[in-house]
Amino acid sequence: WWSGVEVGPPDPIFGLLEAYNKDERTNKVNLTVGAYRDDQGKPYVLNVVKQIERDNLDKYKEKEYAGILGYPSFHRAAIEFALTPQEKHVKENLYVSAQAIGGTGALRIIALFLAKFFPHQKTIYVPAPTWGNHAPVFRSSGLNVETYRHFKPETCGFDSEACYEDLRKIPDNSLILFHACGHNPTGIDPTLDEWSQLSKICKEKNHYVFMDMAYQGFSTGDLDRDASALRLFVRDGHQLSYAQSFSKNMGLYGERVGAVTILCDTPEEKAALESQLKIIVRPMYSNPPINGARIATEILTNENYRSQWLVEMKNMADRITSMRTSLKDALAKHGSTLDWSHVTKQIGMFCFSGLSAEKVDALRNEYGIYMTRDGRISMPALCSSNVDYVAKAIHEITK
Ligand code: PMP
Repeated sequence: WWSGVEVGPPDPIFGLLEAYNKDERTNKVNLTVGAYRDDQGKPYVLNVVKQIERDNLDKYKEKEYAGILGYPSFHRAAIEFALTPQEKHVKENLYVSAQAIGGTGALRIIALFLAKFFPHQKTIYVPAPTWGNHAPVFRSSGLNVETYRHFKPETCGFDSEACYEDLRKIPDNSLILFHACGHNPTGIDPTLDEWSQLSKICKEKNHYVFMDMAYQGFSTGDLDRDASALRLFVRDGHQLSYAQSFSKNMGLYGERVGAVTILCDTPEEKAALESQLKIIVRPMYSNPPINGARIATEILTNENYRSQWLVEMKNMADRITSMRTSLKDALAKHGSTLDWSHVTKQIGMFCFSGLSAEKVDALRNEYGIYMTRDGRISMPALCSSNVDYVAKAIHEITK
């Protein structure tokens, strides 16, 4: 039956993980997968999550199916977290949400929805570069994918002029994806003034905006600051949609907790959208998993848990920031005269190092240090015991 099936290419990130696992060197370092590690290099389950899991055993006496779109209480908690309870759509209940299988599942749902219903050209414009799974998710959902410029290699910064130019040049009524905060893979976000300009251009061009927010709170440790671009667009009157992931900020990776929300104008529109999202979800997986969403809802709605969580989340964000400084300092200590200032200027989980694919290969072959071939370093994979080794290796291959 299957003799005609050929081996497909491995996933760029999870494929590297397999190679890393097979590597027998004891000093190997895995800087690929975007998941938090503590300073001993170990996966970290938040104490507040452990506490809630214990408490939820008593609180929930059943494991019944959720509705097709998940729990309305989770939708509410998630939108209040993203937009605040005072926001107009929140107060007037003018939104439709689907609890999703992580941020990726949220992208998949909105992509299928846009491919089916977006009334203009079915092309989504994503930043160059962008998270490696954006194009596969959108293309396999029936959307075309094009890019607009985001990153300026000369400055390792945001290329505002090029970005504005591209968003002005593309057809009116286009679909635009922005990373709400902690741009993956570059760690470069526009400033608030630049966001304001982007919002203005999107208004003038009547572009439809979709924000992917995978790192609220985790980019800077400040959840309001991380949501400020999304909130600015909503204040400017964009009737947008957005995806949320609770994988990183709550450390719930494998629980797969995410949400997608579409803002709407009227209760009639809301009813229509809700029915259509159900029609999209039902044949895919019927209804979403419940455990992670119950944990996330507790964190967001119970004051006691929420304050514990904020401390733990801030600690994670701060440790990542401190690793940026350690890496830069260690490069200088080993004698690197190159400009590594972007390492501390960038924010969030990733450092877009500027290392070429050849240098990345050399790090893997000669030192057992693994990173994606675009030179992206997952910062939380660095810790006190390996940062010096990594810095020395980077210096050796770049001097
Ligand atoms: N969007 C972006 C920009 C991401 O970086 C990620 C996670 N790497 C996701 C979506 C997917 O999140 P999840 O792991 O919750 O599916």
